[in-house]
Amino acid sequence: MNPERRKFLNSSIAVLSLLIMSTGGFSPAALPAEQTLKDYYESLHRVPELGKEEYKTAEFIRKQLKSFGYDDLLSVEAAPTTVIAVLDTGKPGPVNCFRADMDARKCREKSGVAYASTIDGIMHNCGHDAHSAILLETAKRLLLEKSKLKGKLVFLFQPAEECAGGADDIVNDGVLKRLGVETIIAQHCAPGLEVSRHTLKDGSVLAGSNKLSINLKGKGGHAAQVHERDDLAALASLLTLELERLPSRIADPILYPCICSISTSNWDSEQLNVAPSTISLSGTVRAFFDMDEKLFQGKSFREKIDQLVSGFASAYGVEADVELKAGVPPTKNDPALCARARKILSKSGIELSEAERALFAEDFSFYNKSIPSAYFGLGIARDNAGKENVHSAGFNIHEDCLEEGVKLFVTLAEGLASAKN
Ligand SMILES: [Zn+2]
Ligand SMILES: [Zn+2]
Repeated sequence: MNPERRKFLNSSIAVLSLLIMSTGGFSPAALPAEQTLKDYYESLHRVPELGKEEYKTAEFIRKQLKSFGYDDLLSVEAAPTTVIAVLDTGKPGPVNCFRADMDARKCREKSGVAYASTIDGIMHNCGHDAHSAILLETAKRLLLEKSKLKGKLVFLFQPAEECAGGADDIVNDGVLKRLGVETIIAQHCAPGLEVSRHTLKDGSVLAGSNKLSINLKGKGGHAAQVHERDDLAALASLLTLELERLPSRIADPILYPCICSISTSNWDSEQLNVAPSTISLSGTVRAFFDMDEKLFQGKSFREKIDQLVSGFASAYGVEADVELKAGVPPTKNDPALCARARKILSKSGIELSEAERALFAEDFSFYNKSIPSAYFGLGIARDNAGKENVHSAGFNIHEDCLEEGVKLFVTLAEGLASAKN
């Protein structure tokens, strides 16, 4: 038995004893003695936690990593639920990082799986539990073949992908720079894509997101006296329609795909006979271009929104404040890294197809700015599973996809850091 395997088995027994003694959180009873990839996934799925609150999830991941033999785990002060394990082969070579996100979302689960969420109103419906389980198993398997690898492998378990402060906190901390990370790779569940298929695309693959807020202020009054007050309700309705059609009216949709969606509104009146004096609208603008680029008849998208809102507000004689805040930048894959990945995967018979660009956003993009990145789609559909969209109450995966995700990461790690090359 090689020393790494013995260390792994010894520490597995120690951690299992700890788990048996502990109460609460991840139920020890749910964890069999010999844990498999599916056990990791189902345990994580049962106890979903929101962004920046992934304490039990991080603890579970730390325990597993330590049981494999990763003794010195790192974290990040601004995002303490971050867990980073480093496999140092002791040989000079590249530093490749593999990243999984960990957080869940507010949603009451209706997936019908036997290992459904035990936390009312919170669910893993973006597949981040699958991503974390895959990365755990990847870290376990690669440690056992350390002698065949060179350089360092960094396994990054990232919190808060669904809210602000996950990837950007990690980038701002500088921990990846200190570790000398040269490439970063991630995969995300792709509903509808068959298990054993993966997707990849050079360049922009996911959009940037921007938060739009509009505050309208005027004179409220009795609903029956339109002539004595401002008509904020009509203006808010018009603006919702006009803003949603704005991208298609000013930008070539082939060159500049973009959506502007109003998603929430707040009125200061709750009575049917009182017209409001303030209405706030908020929504999201998704695009692959920057909001300040002057792409549209010499104006930026930000200026076009300002022009539209102030024009309508002035016609209605009311005040309007507009704020367009940059959120997550577009996710861009590095063409050179993608080419290397395609070569490595095709040699191993892993099927890769071209990803379609989508207006979803992903905070993986914060890493893209300074580190060559590759973001893969992971096929999760088989039989009746893996077809519901992410963020829906019925979202689930076919568990066969987990092994395919591990195969993808392990094959890439071996190809990028083989001691033979
Ligand atoms: Zn999501
Ligand atoms: Zn996600």
